[in-house]
Amino acid sequence: MTEKQYGGNTGRSTGTVAGSQDRIKQQKIAEKIVSKEIEESSIDTDKIRDYKKAGEIAKKVKLFCSFVKKGMPLLEIADKIEGEIIKLGGQPGFPVNLSINEIAAHYTPSYDDKTLAEGLLKIDLGVHINGCISDTAISFDLENSDENKKLIKSSEDALNSALEYVKANKEKSKLNKIGKTIKETIEKDKFYPIINLSGHGLESYQIHAGITIPNCDNGNEKELGEGAFAIEPFSTTGLGQVYEGKNSGIYMLQRYANTRDSFSRKVIDFIHENYKTLPFASRWIVKEFGTRALISLSLLTKEGLLHQFPELIEKSKAKVAQAEHSFIIHNGKVEIIT
Ligand code: MN
Ligand code: MN
Repeated sequence: MTEKQYGGNTGRSTGTVAGSQDRIKQQKIAEKIVSKEIEESSIDTDKIRDYKKAGEIAKKVKLFCSFVKKGMPLLEIADKIEGEIIKLGGQPGFPVNLSINEIAAHYTPSYDDKTLAEGLLKIDLGVHINGCISDTAISFDLENSDENKKLIKSSEDALNSALEYVKANKEKSKLNKIGKTIKETIEKDKFYPIINLSGHGLESYQIHAGITIPNCDNGNEKELGEGAFAIEPFSTTGLGQVYEGKNSGIYMLQRYANTRDSFSRKVIDFIHENYKTLPFASRWIVKEFGTRALISLSLLTKEGLLHQFPELIEKSKAKVAQAEHSFIIHNGKVEIIT
């Protein structure tokens, strides 16, 4: 999963007010909902162990992804990947994102999805162990295109350069310098980074927490500090920005409160029990409750208890490649976990 910046001038301003306020709000909500799990924000030994385990599983699942071929139903791919995460002892940190071509992020199949894999496919997957999340992405060229291959390599090179910078500077790594490294690496390949998508901090049961890690020099000289983070460059032949498209069927608990409809109450109790404040897929809910739960999801969203993520589409409908790793910085050490 990735974080979209709001408030327009993402490229150059020091922050995105709406975005950070949303995050602070979300963080407070998450603390309320999972108060038992969040004792402090720093990472202790137990959490480091859980992050590493989540990362190990994510690594194995990425290798497992080599089964993906052109023409396979996305629904089958999603089921297999999420099944493998569980088989290896993890839980999905969010629904696997299978975004094709100009869809940069946040496409996950619906329960009756008929879409087939093709083109430039990004697989963005997450694993969590006790709320400690590893978030990682790889891109596949399913049409044997030189341009796709170059785009993919460009996003991977940008990720590697950014990680080299972080390994050298550790907790003193500056956000704008990470972004600058990403942008310059991608532009060297004559492509553009998507500047209103970013990497992010990772915290207990929160996929986007704390800081935003830009994909360009946004002027923010704040240092990373200790913690768990994800860096995720997107490269494109297009304008380098995304807009919000259709609803994705990826939801997240916003507020755990009572609702009048008794069936919807069962649905929200199940969500709270199983996913807490992590993103989940409508197809997971359909599997548990049948299709009538889709009405509950829209009801709960209208009541402000759930948030639904939109698909994120490149503005000029150009192709997008993505690469992503998660890492932890602790005791002066940087460890890439995925
Ligand atoms: Mn991701
Ligand atoms: Mn991410």
